[in-house]
Amino acid sequence: MHALVKSHPREGLWKCQVPVPEIGPDDVLIRIKTTGICGTDMHIWNWDTWAAKTVPVPLITGHEFAGEIVDMGRNVEGLALGQRCSGEGHLIGTQSRQSRAGKFHLDPETRGIGVQENGAFAEYLRLPAFNVVPLPDDIPDETGAILDPLGNAVHTALSFDILGEDVLITGAGPIGIMAAAVARHAGARHVVITDVNPQRLGLAAKVADVVPVDVTREDLNDVMTGLGLREGFDVGLEMSGNQIAMDQMVEAMVMGGKIALLGIPPGKSPVDWSRIVFKAITVKGVYGREIFETWYKMIAMLQNGLDVSRVITHRLPVSQFTEGFAAMKSGTCGKVVLDWT
Ligand code: NAD
Ligand code: ZN
Repeated sequence: MHALVKSHPREGLWKCQVPVPEIGPDDVLIRIKTTGICGTDMHIWNWDTWAAKTVPVPLITGHEFAGEIVDMGRNVEGLALGQRCSGEGHLIGTQSRQSRAGKFHLDPETRGIGVQENGAFAEYLRLPAFNVVPLPDDIPDETGAILDPLGNAVHTALSFDILGEDVLITGAGPIGIMAAAVARHAGARHVVITDVNPQRLGLAAKVADVVPVDVTREDLNDVMTGLGLREGFDVGLEMSGNQIAMDQMVEAMVMGGKIALLGIPPGKSPVDWSRIVFKAITVKGVYGREIFETWYKMIAMLQNGLDVSRVITHRLPVSQFTEGFAAMKSGTCGKVVLDWT
């Protein structure tokens, strides 16, 4: 089969011919139809410090996918050949305290497909049946292929009660934009999203009913005054990993506000803890998605009017994967999806 492989420890990915994976008794084999390119894949493409210390070479990359089950191990129950599916790309262990308490998303032994284990940028993917998430007929493959990052957005956006609350999102990348759509769908009052990139803010306004703020030109305080937010935002969703955005968020929160952090700073970043103490702010780190509560919730929302389809700005055949990665590198795209059929 063809696959996009990290075959050399340097910049790039290579389209290679590799064997179709063999499945074990608890696995399924998925024929991949559509995949999404993630920021993580970009790190692996670039071969930055994180990638070099995390990713074994050679490795089939990719973890955002939709496809169809074409083979099943003998122990697999409740699934069928031909079932359309996506799936959780975090492979968990069963021995840790958190796993045994049923908090699978907090298992410290987690290994990621396309990061530490062979992934989904391939014609076929082996996945434990446990990780499979069947796709309802009314959810198309290209949406199935972005459920992983939508899951990050949903898990973060639903970290705190947002019904009737004013929400600030810093970072209008694909995940921030989807989080804005989720916050709106879940009944937030005002949703303000900041970025330094006007194209990204333009896309945010196309995908969700939000107030886009270019912090290089506009003062967030003026925007807040215009919306009648005298005391600040109730909930903050940090989706940029940028130090300036984080500081701005803390300043813009109401006393007792709540912040969920998804964005990953490039290195250690200083925090003004006394500001957080005196503002009585709750801070929550967010990793991945809840397995499988986030999946249930996002599929339910998609079936009840949540529409994130416009966040997909590039649809390319896999033969044009280098163009897909170039679009990602430009920093102006939304989600880029590759067609494997
Ligand atoms: P992205 O890099 O596409 O988007 C980040 C956005 O932040 C960009 O549009 C950038 O212009 C913007 N930004 C930069 N400086 C800013 C500033 N001062 N104020 C406001 N915005 C600013 O990333 P993405 O794919 O949307 O992912 C969002 C973040 O979440 C990234 O940091 C990513 O690494 C992280 N992430 C975390 C997890 C997790 O499990 N915790 C999972 C996936 C992604
Ligand atoms: Zn991803």
